Amino acid sequence: MRIGIDIGGTKILVGVVDEMGSIIHKIKIPTDAKNSYIYVRDDIVNTVDGVLKTCGLHKKDIERIGIAAAGQIDKKTHYIMFSPNLGWHNVPLKQDFEKIFGIETFIENDVNAATYGEWKFGLNSIPDDVVGVFVGTGIGGGLIINRKLYRGYTNVGGELGHVTVNPYGYKCSCGNRGCLEAYCGGSYIVGRVRDKIKSGYRGRIWDIIGGNVDMLQTGHIEDAYISGDEFCVYAWREVIEYMGAAMASIANLINPEVIVLGGGVVYGTRYFVDDIRAVMEKRAMSASIRGLKIEKAKLGEDSAILGAVFTEA
Ligand SMILES: [Zn+2]
Repeated sequence: MRIGIDIGGTKILVGVVDEMGSIIHKIKIPTDAKNSYIYVRDDIVNTVDGVLKTCGLHKKDIERIGIAAAGQIDKKTHYIMFSPNLGWHNVPLKQDFEKIFGIETFIENDVNAATYGEWKFGLNSIPDDVVGVFVGTGIGGGLIINRKLYRGYTNVGGELGHVTVNPYGYKCSCGNRGCLEAYCGGSYIVGRVRDKIKSGYRGRIWDIIGGNVDMLQTGHIEDAYISGDEFCVYAWREVIEYMGAAMASIANLINPEVIVLGGGVVYGTRYFVDDIRAVMEKRAMSASIRGLKIEKAKLGEDSAILGAVFTEA
């Protein structure tokens, strides 16, 4: 048996996973991100203890703990160097877990782990070259090249969300201008439409959300786009065009067999994936997308747990 843990900015998942990749038991707790690292770490430790007890397992039954965490992981020390949603700097989570449980512990960036999980357990086949693209509040990317997770020289590769798609474009939270994330990340898209409504704009979108701007999501914006809302046609068309252009660039650069698309914006909309595919087919070099499959991620919130449990160093 193995234990998989996915530490996100709002929730933490802890699962017991067997050798075949089946999740036997799973628990979700809220992340107390306002509290210190030690506090959150101990929350997770107590949850793991509880899960072991519930499943009638002992520490000696667990061959490995795999942790997926948002942020950059140092290649040598495996410390989490920086995690913006958690506010952590240089924390020794792997070492702490090994000390506390006496079980070998692996730590992986959450999007890398999610890509690996989808690659190993979500797809119908196990292709050699896969790109994972997760479009949630921001955008994360993961690369499987030649059946191995590609992490880069200092372990921080795959940052698709911060590829510049317009040097003069929207400001991004990373400090750059015109990142893919600033165009197609859910919180950025919603932010632009919300600002427009707050400045007095009233179109179909106003009726769709019943005048409640706080509940606005990308699915509403897509609905308004379909029904011809003037601003949402502009805003959503921009999202599809930039996303499709970025995917075409990925295909030209990596020439993957499969691009897996996951995250809240993918799950919360109806035609996003098809619309992106159409733009890609227009923009990519035809040899780069011959036989390319674009698939929706299938494992949902389980992908990072499964990836963290099985990825290789
Ligand atoms: Zn950026």
